[in-house]
Amino acid sequence: MSGIRAVKVGKVIIGGDWPVSVQTMWKEPLPIPGSPGFESALKRISGLSELGCDVLRFAVPDEEAAEALGALAERSVLPLVADIHFDWRIALRCLDFPIAKIRINPGNIGAPWKVAEVTAKAKANGLPIRIGVNSGSLPPDLRDSTDRAGAIVEAAEREVAAFDELGFSEIIVSMKASDVDTTIEVNRRFASRHGIPLHLGVTEAGPLIAGVARNTAALVPLLREGIGSTIRVSLSDTMESEVLAGREILACAGLARKGISIVSCPRCGRASFDTHAFTARWAQRLYSLEATATVAIMGCVVNGPGEARHADLGITGAGDKVIIMRKGEIARTISPEEADTVFEEELKKL
Ligand code: SF4
Repeated sequence: MSGIRAVKVGKVIIGGDWPVSVQTMWKEPLPIPGSPGFESALKRISGLSELGCDVLRFAVPDEEAAEALGALAERSVLPLVADIHFDWRIALRCLDFPIAKIRINPGNIGAPWKVAEVTAKAKANGLPIRIGVNSGSLPPDLRDSTDRAGAIVEAAEREVAAFDELGFSEIIVSMKASDVDTTIEVNRRFASRHGIPLHLGVTEAGPLIAGVARNTAALVPLLREGIGSTIRVSLSDTMESEVLAGREILACAGLARKGISIVSCPRCGRASFDTHAFTARWAQRLYSLEATATVAIMGCVVNGPGEARHADLGITGAGDKVIIMRKGEIARTISPEEADTVFEEELKKL
């Protein structure tokens, strides 16, 4: 038993002994209900779900955005979270709709009675609230602390205490910093003192490569220690990349969920099969499949047949031919031009 409180976010449970969930944040303006963009947004949400996203958060800057989020929440396949800063009335409006969670920063909502109003309505609706601290927005008396990690944890504990006083326990806490060591330190310290589910992530982590590297370095050790109930990999990249990065980080931490694991070679001068192009064409589709399997995409006979042999389904270049392998056996030898069609046929058999 983890000893972590379980909090329900729509159909997802965060905490307890439930699997660590993957989140991302919507990066486009909220679509206008009834517009073609609205239907496209719903389709994209479904795609995110297929890729392994569990929870999707939206910035809600005004009343109009609250209405749009409400309309999306009516039809979304994923639990949607309203992220509100500054204006508690927007949080109250969001709570009129079937959203799954509210994220607020009590520090910028203002007077305690405003936070209390939001909390009371969330409680009445049975919804949890994510609270938390960003290293860039600490309370004034903690800003100059020489113990940065201690200051972040202290700020988070003050928020927790305020919610305790309101008699509200359905909280998830995040403590975000933009560097790896602080992220690890604050979450370790907090987890050693509280059984509250933690939302992990390195904030403002950078573009794709830097962001994945920093989040992996910070999150994998924490997850291996059993710290963290939900993750979001912040990237200056697409939502889909954030979800796939989250999924791979869970796998690195030994928390792989069902789904396809792709093994692909980096390609070198020996390649007789363009693994980059093939992987790019197939990655989205493979990651969207529900089957649990390893797929190997290899360039030549040096390592190709070996890797492909250990995979459930493998494809590798072999001179002017391409070999398809199924569970260690050569299934087909084909021409490169037939690769996509035959791979599709073999994939269906998985
Ligand atoms: S499998 Fe072949 S093409 Fe791919 S990296 Fe290894 S040697 Fe190079």
